[in-house]
Amino acid sequence: MNIHEYQAKALFEKFGVPIPAGAAAKTPAEFDAALAALPEGPTMVKSQIHAGGRGKGTFTDGFKGGVKYCKTKADAKMTAGRMLGNTLVTVQTGPVGRKVQTIYFTVASDIKKEYYLAILLDRATSRPVIVASTEGGVEIEKVAHDTPEKIVKVFVDPAYGLADFQVRQLVFALGLAGAEAKNATKLIRNLYTLYSQSDAAMIEVNPLITTPTGEVLALDAKVSFDDNALFRHPEIVALRDLNEEDPKEIEASKYSLSYIALEGNIACLVNGAGLAMATMDIIKHFGGEPANFLDVGGGASKDQVVAAFKIILGDPNVKGIFVNIFGGIMDCNVIASGIVEAAKEVGLQLPLVVRLEGNNAIYGRQTLEDSGLPIVGGETMADAAQKIVQLVA
Ligand code: ADP
Ligand code: MG
Repeated sequence: MNIHEYQAKALFEKFGVPIPAGAAAKTPAEFDAALAALPEGPTMVKSQIHAGGRGKGTFTDGFKGGVKYCKTKADAKMTAGRMLGNTLVTVQTGPVGRKVQTIYFTVASDIKKEYYLAILLDRATSRPVIVASTEGGVEIEKVAHDTPEKIVKVFVDPAYGLADFQVRQLVFALGLAGAEAKNATKLIRNLYTLYSQSDAAMIEVNPLITTPTGEVLALDAKVSFDDNALFRHPEIVALRDLNEEDPKEIEASKYSLSYIALEGNIACLVNGAGLAMATMDIIKHFGGEPANFLDVGGGASKDQVVAAFKIILGDPNVKGIFVNIFGGIMDCNVIASGIVEAAKEVGLQLPLVVRLEGNNAIYGRQTLEDSGLPIVGGETMADAAQKIVQLVA
């Protein structure tokens, strides 16, 4: 689960990670109140969307920059008016962009130098890794590619926690000394506490800055959480912004279905992530284009199948459906009954090819046949894939 910069910064504040003062607004009527919380002077206006690269982004009406420096609060108010409700396109949003529904006003800091700092899980070592670089403010992928020696990584033993020598190693690598080093030490410690206590998947601060007076501040904040740990953090779940998510994916998550919308016209309903990927591959192999990835899981119920059908049919691009089930734990007859019920309930008009294999497959095929619905059976995965590709052509 992702959260906005302004929400991440509220968490930073709570954990003692210094940030410039800021306030958010969701409507133009809230601009004045938000700005009143800040001192007069240079102010940053920042579009809040779940995507990076905002500074270099462009709005669909041609307005340039999703993060803007303004000399005065009056300027900031005007600039916010251009951004709110406008659609911002960045390297991370795709060409469609994201509608800006919240503005974050923040004091423009005096930047001495920009750095990069992140904490995430390293899958290779199964440990949290702290990544730091003196090359902040720019895309870290570019730094990793061009000058990998400028990126330092510290792997944390999850049982022991972050050791003092490791923090010193990071601070030294960033070339900090004196008050800056002292402040950075505290910031890194507090950020790590936030990372572990909140079950974050990733915390990225780009840029982290030093100021001429020796302060160390987080100017940007990108935080995502491990979905599997959300059950123990209701206060974090409350930060979820459904505006940033695909409505079909939200609906799917209610029924514990893994659904991801794609561009093609053949909808897939599959059990198991591996089979779902193989199904998308075989559709492509025979010249079709999958409309989605949909995994109903190992032991789907009838209700889940009905919900899955409704979600699939909510996509206007869908011209046909391919159900590919391997009954290991799953009872194929349960799936078949779900398919029949769903097809009747939604008054299915589109071609539907079903391939059932495994546990109770014969009974499942019988259920489909007895339903009297025009469901096409597939002998094998290849046979079924070819049939659906032909039917939508
Ligand atoms: P994004 O990474 O989405 O482009 P950032 O928050 O990193 O958004 O903002 C882009 C750039 O704007 C930063 O790299 C920094 O140079 C500048 N910036 C952001 N916030 C501030 C601030 N509070 N004071 C001064 N400069 C800022
Ligand atoms: Mg940034």
